[in-house]
Amino acid sequence: MSDSILQSKVPGGGIADKWDNYKADMKLVNPNNKRKFKVIVVGSGLAGASAAATMAELGYDVEVFTFHDSPRRAHSIAAQGGINAAKNYRGDGDSVHRLFYDTIKGGDFRSREGNVHRLAQVSLNIIDQMVAQGVPFAREYGGLLDTRSFGGSQLQRTFYARGQTGQQLLLGAYQQLARQIGLGTVKLWNRVELVDTVTVDGRCAGIVTRDLVTGEVRSHAAHATVLCTGGYGNAFFLSTNAMNCNVTAAWRAHRKGAYFANPCYTQIHPTCIPQADDTQSKLTLMSESLRNDGRVWVPLNAGDERPAAQIPEAERDYYLERLYPSFGNLAPRDISSRAAKRAVDSGRGVGPLKNGVNLDFADAIGRLGADVVKERYGNLFEMYERITGENPYAEPMRIYPASHYTMGGLWVDYELMTTIPGLYAAGEANFSDHGANRLGASALMQGLADGYFVLPYTIGNYLAPMLGKAIPGVDHPEFQAAEQAVRQRYQGFLDVRGTRSPDYFHRQLGQIIWDYCGMERTEQGLE
Ligand SMILES: Cc1cc2nc3c(=O)[nH]c(=O)nc-3n(C[C@H](O)[C@H](O)[C@H](O)COP(=O)(O)OP(=O)(O)OC[C@H]3O[C@@H](n4cnc5c(N)ncnc54)[C@H](O)[C@@H]3O)c2cc1C
Repeated sequence: MSDSILQSKVPGGGIADKWDNYKADMKLVNPNNKRKFKVIVVGSGLAGASAAATMAELGYDVEVFTFHDSPRRAHSIAAQGGINAAKNYRGDGDSVHRLFYDTIKGGDFRSREGNVHRLAQVSLNIIDQMVAQGVPFAREYGGLLDTRSFGGSQLQRTFYARGQTGQQLLLGAYQQLARQIGLGTVKLWNRVELVDTVTVDGRCAGIVTRDLVTGEVRSHAAHATVLCTGGYGNAFFLSTNAMNCNVTAAWRAHRKGAYFANPCYTQIHPTCIPQADDTQSKLTLMSESLRNDGRVWVPLNAGDERPAAQIPEAERDYYLERLYPSFGNLAPRDISSRAAKRAVDSGRGVGPLKNGVNLDFADAIGRLGADVVKERYGNLFEMYERITGENPYAEPMRIYPASHYTMGGLWVDYELMTTIPGLYAAGEANFSDHGANRLGASALMQGLADGYFVLPYTIGNYLAPMLGKAIPGVDHPEFQAAEQAVRQRYQGFLDVRGTRSPDYFHRQLGQIIWDYCGMERTEQGLE
């Protein structure tokens, strides 16, 4: 690997000045020239919708692609718990520096500091932006926006809208996108899948797509292309991601030469509903916010078959509170997940398959009353009851870790550009800000930071020198060759005439990856 390709382009100056320095020095495209540049955005989740809407508002000619029927189907809609920002409305000691430090430390000191500091800085703008767009964040009695705790922080900096934060944020970003579609500044291609990226003379020249309804394969040329196509958590087959999150876009870009960074970094989320049987194809997340009030425990002794209510306090092991007293039940996700695995592996798991640990709200209901607990988590409790048939107000939830988020992704520099000039990656699709472990409530922050406040600046720095220069059209031989290869690939799939579905192979592969590259990896297993 040549060092010369991996230039992070982090600007000089002190950590707190880098972003301002960058913005002061970057090249500009004047408003009348912006419409001369076409930008393709693939993905319409929080990163894609916010990037596309903002660049269109600035004047760029934008085209958005999603394989969903509506941009609102992007997986961002599923995010439950909240979004971090260093607003310090609580007066509990938060600051840009603390959010920066917590994120760096939470990621095991493996993230790029310049990017993370910028993330913490623009977190302040994100909340203002979303409130201005009408996102109904929870408010406390005095009228200020309410916040709650998330793992890995001793502050309450997580803004939320009940257990539907992603949904409300995406509706906000989608509104802005829809406005631009209405104004004619964004063209939306729905049910259209990116099936290849095209590079001409070392620059990304555009993409090849396949219409999911008609099967039509077609090329699209642009000055710059942005992939906001989500993560690869579904590599494990069972995950909290929707089945549609298929990482094909990042994979195609990688096959075309974009470097992929840290694919071994997957976040295993500690609070998911345990698997019920072998035919299951998806796991359900129970938001981390539940650990604000729920207490995690298992029976002290292995093989204890009694229902939770019959196990006296002295015979319970509140292992997170015991092992990590300063964070207690809000220990970071990786630590909590490994601790749950150890508890289950020691024979103290709960539930019919003994594959879970308790998340118990009895104390919170006694202290706050069932009404307050319902107000905070009502929709999550309802979801749990619908899936398991168990009433979490009356007995503890059962939870177990599952693949949830991917910190690895396409390598990007400070400008969010991949190793292919003109090809950018934003949101979960890139590797940039979370190091080895993402803290809760920081993915929504990163997706919106990238889309609203980073890319709209950095992309201009790339486009400005291209003013007046022709770009390759879709009749260029590279586009034609890519289209041809795509058609052959799909014909190859159809010609197999196999008897097993893609899911069959995906499930087998997922099981291998979970067993050997999941929460625990050994030299022997990896070999
Ligand atoms: C259940 C759940 C709960 C979560 N809760 C939280 C939370 O409370 N707080 C938090 O910070 N984070 C949370 N996360 C993580 C967070 O939701 C995601 O990381 C984030 O929303 C990803 O946004 P994105 O815009 O990068 O990608 P996505 O929202 O996944 O959007 C990807 C887009 O790319 C499109 N796409 C993908 N491939 C192609 C292709 N080949 N061709 C065309 N289109 C394509 C899709 O159609 C979609 O529009 C949660 C995640 C899950 C799974």
